[in-house]
Amino acid sequence: MAELARDWDRPHSRVQNELTATALALIAAHLEDLPRWVQARSSGLGDEAIADLSGTMACVVALALDGWPVSGLPDIGDAVKALRRWSAGEPVSQVAGALGVPVARLRRQLVEGHSELTPRRLTTSDLGARYGWTPSAISQYRRKGTLPAVDGLEGSRAWWWEATIDSWENARELHWCRECEHAFVAVSGLKEHSTRIHGC
Ligand SMILES: [Zn+2]
Repeated sequence: MAELARDWDRPHSRVQNELTATALALIAAHLEDLPRWVQARSSGLGDEAIADLSGTMACVVALALDGWPVSGLPDIGDAVKALRRWSAGEPVSQVAGALGVPVARLRRQLVEGHSELTPRRLTTSDLGARYGWTPSAISQYRRKGTLPAVDGLEGSRAWWWEATIDSWENARELHWCRECEHAFVAVSGLKEHSTRIHGC
């Protein structure tokens, strides 16, 4: 590990974080397969064969079932526990607790995209970026019930599963301003905006 960190010219802790995030992302896709992997192995199937069945690599199977080959990294059992908490909608503090990392660090990693806990949770600022909405527009949409009910709260901050927002968007027709990539829920909103902002 120390050597790896030197070669990459990055602090040891940073490499450790990146490896953890990568492991989480690799295993996250197969969370549901884990019980079957354990069963398949105990019935004598090799990791290659198990990996083939799930469309992954043998090293991912080994990583999930045996953990890291070197010590000093978070236990993969902990990572799986953390992922289960995340997909059950538990707050980041609980997920960080299961991983044994400081909450602030995990939060920063999630925001910066270093940690890929899946499925994704979207915050109001993610909605702002996606639809070009201001925070006050978003609270109005929430109050009026235009947006779906939140899937969870992180402290006082609302979040939705990406799938909740995707299916909400698919089920309704949003009106997009082509000039500024801003979405409107009503066609009248788009018309008013086009006249006021773009003069057409
Ligand atoms: Zn516009």
